[in-house]
Amino acid sequence: MTTDTLATDCSRCAALCCLALAFDKGDDFAFDKNPGEPCRNLSGHQCSIHDKLTSEGFPGCVAYDCLGAGNRVVQEVFAGQSWQKNPQLTRPMMEAFSGMREVHKRIDLLRAARSLPLSDRDDQARRDYLARLEQHRWSGPELNDFEVGLALEIDLWFHTLRGYLPG
Ligand code: SF4
Repeated sequence: MTTDTLATDCSRCAALCCLALAFDKGDDFAFDKNPGEPCRNLSGHQCSIHDKLTSEGFPGCVAYDCLGAGNRVVQEVFAGQSWQKNPQLTRPMMEAFSGMREVHKRIDLLRAARSLPLSDRDDQARRDYLARLEQHRWSGPELNDFEVGLALEIDLWFHTLRGYLPG
């Protein structure tokens, strides 16, 4: 079975968003949470208020989508392990999740660029980048380096596409 790289599957994640991400009390979240602080609504890897997030004051959680970064990190980089069973993994899993979110954001943008009237050369470059990001089996150190390496290269390439956009 092949699944889309950008498909989020919380059942194969370890609640990384509910651990790693910070939010502020307001319209989208009912209390403040710091990065790396497990949400107090977590029960194992599940949200204990999943079915009533909006009415409980957490529409921000409903709106959030990691684009499959969490499940990919847990399965591909950490072989299904969890920071809950092995607290030493907390920091490396948060760092890898951050890097993979950047990888998956670029995959999303590279797919969207398919709708531009790209030259054959630019479309080949687009497909080459996509293949690298989707097919590579990432390690934690590679994900940590992604933003200062390949992500910058891809972002600079995106700038060269500005001529395709309506002026
Ligand atoms: S409220 Fe639920 S979905 Fe939102 S961060 Fe907490 S545990 Fe996760």
